[in-house]
Amino acid sequence: MYKLNQFLESVKLNNPGETEFLQAVTEFATSVIDFVNKNPAYEQAKILERIVEPERNISFRVTWTNDKGEVQVNRGYRIEFNSAIGPYKGGLRFHPTVNSSILKFLGFEQIFKNSLTGLPMGGGKGGSDFDPHEKTDSEVMKFCQAFMSELYRHIGPNTDVPAGDIGVGGREIGYLFGQYKKLKNEFSGVLTGKGFNWGGSLIRPEATGFGLVYFVNEMLKNQKDSLKGKNVLISGSGNVAQFAAQKVIELGGKLLTMSDSDGTVYDKDGITQEKLQFIMDLKNKQRGRIKDYADKYHTEYLDGKKPWSLKADIALPCATQNEIELEDAKELVSSGVILVGEGANMPLSNDAIDYLHSEKVLHSPGKASNAGGVAVSGLEMSQNSLRLQWSRDELDERLQNIMKDIHHKCVEYGTENGYVNYVKGANIAGFKKVADAMLDQGIV
Ligand code: NDP
Repeated sequence: MYKLNQFLESVKLNNPGETEFLQAVTEFATSVIDFVNKNPAYEQAKILERIVEPERNISFRVTWTNDKGEVQVNRGYRIEFNSAIGPYKGGLRFHPTVNSSILKFLGFEQIFKNSLTGLPMGGGKGGSDFDPHEKTDSEVMKFCQAFMSELYRHIGPNTDVPAGDIGVGGREIGYLFGQYKKLKNEFSGVLTGKGFNWGGSLIRPEATGFGLVYFVNEMLKNQKDSLKGKNVLISGSGNVAQFAAQKVIELGGKLLTMSDSDGTVYDKDGITQEKLQFIMDLKNKQRGRIKDYADKYHTEYLDGKKPWSLKADIALPCATQNEIELEDAKELVSSGVILVGEGANMPLSNDAIDYLHSEKVLHSPGKASNAGGVAVSGLEMSQNSLRLQWSRDELDERLQNIMKDIHHKCVEYGTENGYVNYVKGANIAGFKKVADAMLDQGIV
């Protein structure tokens, strides 16, 4: 029998100082331990000890020159975490906070998220401490080329297929793909999130945000409720936040906030589709700050603040890890929030999650509710292999069905006394498929 504390202590000893990774493992292990102990084969094959150890952890130097001709040095990473059910798959993050702990937590979560999609994808994650903010296009291109000059030897369409994440959008994927193609002399489906006219998939840019709102809609339907007329708080104003916002508006919710790392805009009248277009242009074309929205539409701007103290029904954190801590969770509950749907990865601390669960607030972990992005990435890989491109309607329908299916699995494995513990449901369902594949494949 595994003992939870003993197991977590050993992970802590093996990964000193890696707080985000330990946080993700604690959340996971706490919810699967009883399930694991019911099947002695898992312990005999040391599945838990193996699943927390990356199959391969690559770190490399990235050297490039800025526009002034000055030499710059960054650190690049690729964590190839688990390939039991398919090639490693997961995004690349370019952000100054990137380190081994953050990428290991993301790679670890990715294993179970990818499993939940039902598609054949293993778990991985990578990135760099490079900060694309305030860099010119030519600097971003030079960095991406230098980064790929090492990464290319570790990835491939049947080995490891990276995608975007924070700081890595369509522009960066383009530069990375161009360099990979030049070095390998092959045009293959090695990255996802590609431009549509060179192998990308329709709906991929929208998929994480749309998928989140489809999932939230399923959670509400399960309570015989709907999004119509609900007041919604969204944090972030990047890829996930923008398309979550679009779908909330389309489904009749009233969107009150969006944010960036400087502050939050609070629009009491609701952010409309037209106002959202302003944010999309601001963020994607001008690479400006969210405060410009408040200046243009004369709304409130909460300088340096997150949205969580405002009165609303639903909160969708779509920016970054640990953006809702215990105090924020208390504010959400006291201002009437009934549902928290994670668009970002691990946006809640574990005590914030425990508090929401104790208050019976509906809460979905990112590995379930933000899985739409990687799901459509998986469909992009299928289209690349077939050398075909599917229509928007077909892909949107597949995305909706995948999110419904993940919701169904969470309810199946997570229902306790009428309350759906989506964290438990997602962890057990995601784990079971990977663990059983590891058993089938022997001691490797
Ligand atoms: P983007 O880079 O497009 O946007 C990130 C947004 O979050 C920006 O508004 C950014 O503000 C804000 N942000 C980033 N770091 C911080 C911080 N430390 N504090 C406050 N705000 C911050 O990233 P994505 O939208 O792609 O990713 C957002 C989240 O969703 C991440 O957790 C990512 O892992 C997760 N995710 C993304 C997927 C995808 O398909 N893109 C798939 C699944 C999960 P600023 O511009 O000021 O930095």
